[in-house]
Amino acid sequence: MILRLNKNVDEKKANELGAELRSFVLKQNGSYILVSPSKLKELEERYRPFVAESIPFNDDIQLASKKFIAGTRQVNISDAIAIGGTTNNTVVITGPCSVESEEQIGQAAQLCTKLGVKVLRAGAYKPRTSPYTFQGMGVEGLKLLDRMRDKYGLKIISEVRDSTHVNEIIRYADIVQIGAKSMYDHGILKACAKATKPVLLKRGFGTTVQEFVQAAEFILSGGNENVILCERGIRTFETKTRFTLDLCGVAWLKEHTNLPIILDPSHAIGYAYGVPDLTRACMAMGCDGLLIETHPNPAVAKSDASQQLNFEEFTKLYESLKPIAKAIGRNII
Ligand code: PEP
Ligand code: MN
Repeated sequence: MILRLNKNVDEKKANELGAELRSFVLKQNGSYILVSPSKLKELEERYRPFVAESIPFNDDIQLASKKFIAGTRQVNISDAIAIGGTTNNTVVITGPCSVESEEQIGQAAQLCTKLGVKVLRAGAYKPRTSPYTFQGMGVEGLKLLDRMRDKYGLKIISEVRDSTHVNEIIRYADIVQIGAKSMYDHGILKACAKATKPVLLKRGFGTTVQEFVQAAEFILSGGNENVILCERGIRTFETKTRFTLDLCGVAWLKEHTNLPIILDPSHAIGYAYGVPDLTRACMAMGCDGLLIETHPNPAVAKSDASQQLNFEEFTKLYESLKPIAKAIGRNII
């Protein structure tokens, strides 16, 4: 249950009530709210004088629910870049799977600048399936991304692999990406909850949408309101594609949650040939953003080589999104 306390309830009293009701205490628009377990369905009489509004829930999707906030939350990536809310914006994010060298990430940054793409992606810490493959450049990669921000005025998204370097990512990135394999990492979730930077939470490939949104609740209930969901494909019985992009799940998320949603067709299909069509389908769904992997020379990429688009393919795809955006009343930013 979410309880909006009366405006005159001070911090001390809010914390006291929060402790009694086993609730998270958050401050929003000048007043306190308590987020208690959804098992609490009715409020005892003695609490009522402190409460302006109480919202019961069927399950623990609470802060992310449309029952709490009817629309989609606006998340500001910078002063000039916002998604969700009433913006109708779809932010295109592109760049390689991993930062590999200054030259490689510089070429990706130049592609963004040329096309007007404002957010550059690349992993510096890679959560790989095998210990014998490229694990990322670490903090050196983050420094290169930082340089790209300064040189080209781009915003940066990069992924946190484990809680040992979460503060580095928070410091260097404009959006903190929590990867599919880390969706359940509570050290990461809780560290991101204490930050204010936007967090892109990817859906674990073996998780339900309920579990996915509950992971988002860890970040929201800790006080970070800037959470973006990312559907990147789930594991099914299919083996011809790497994963299966769950667009039905996306429809559910749009209907029931107040969080902006970014779609990642690259990791879903796993093969470059299918990325353009899939991206156009995602655009047609009216998502808040698209995350597409590109590489100056995909054949030699150190991770996810088979799914990255070369720059010519990406440019063609990017142009083809414009009429789709126009047809559904969205702005590509
Ligand atoms: C990535 O974005 O490069 C990545 C590793 O994604 P995911 O966590 O979805 O596998
Ligand atoms: Mn990748």
